[in-house]
Amino acid sequence: MTKLLRDLGIAAIAAIAGLGIAYAITRAPKNPVKQPSSIQEILTENPTPQVQEPVGNFTPTRIHQAHDYRAGRTANVDEIVLHTTEGTPLGAETWLTSASGLEVSAHYLVWPNGDIVQMVNPADTAWHVRGHNARSVGIEIAGYFNRPITNQQVTRTAELVSHLLNQYDLQPTAIRAHSQLDPSRRRDPGTENFNRVITAVNQDRNR
Ligand SMILES: [Zn+2]
Repeated sequence: MTKLLRDLGIAAIAAIAGLGIAYAITRAPKNPVKQPSSIQEILTENPTPQVQEPVGNFTPTRIHQAHDYRAGRTANVDEIVLHTTEGTPLGAETWLTSASGLEVSAHYLVWPNGDIVQMVNPADTAWHVRGHNARSVGIEIAGYFNRPITNQQVTRTAELVSHLLNQYDLQPTAIRAHSQLDPSRRRDPGTENFNRVITAVNQDRNR
C-alpha cells in the first residue's frame, strides 16, 4: 500500500469513528447507548445514525388519520387519558381510523412493540371518553385492562405523556385512567398498567 493510500485509509477510519462518537454523544440520555466496542459494530448496528428528537418534539412512528374527530378545541387541554383497547392492535387501529359518524376515535395508539400511531392531531378533538373529550388527549394502549401491557408500551407511552405534559404545561396529576372518568362503564387501562406508566413518567421527569 502506498503511503498516500494508507493515509487516506486512516483518515476515512478516523472520520467514521468521529461520526460514531458524535452519534453516541447526540443521542438523548433517555435511551442509554451501549458503548460500541469497534467501528464495525457502529456501522453494523447504526447504519443510519439519527439524532433522537428531544421530548419537546415528540415524533410518532406513523400517522394514520382517523375520520371521526372535530377540528380544534372548545376547551384548554388539561387531561391526558389512558386507555387499553380491549382488542388486538390491528383491530383497534382499523376500527379507530375507519369509524365514521360514530364519534369514535383517539389521538394515539401504542402498539405492543412500542410503535406509536397518531390518529388525531392533539390540537383537534377526538372521541374517547364521555364528557371529557374537549379537554383531553386520548392514548389507546393496545392490550387489556386485566393483562400486563409490554415494557415497550410503558416506556413509549411515558415518553409521549411526558411530551404532552410539557406541551400543555401540566403536572402528572393531569394523567387520568379512563376508569376514573367513567367508572360505571369502564375498567381500562387497569390499575397495574396505569401505575406502571405513571412510575415511568415520574422517572422521566426526575432525570
Ligand atoms: Zn377507554
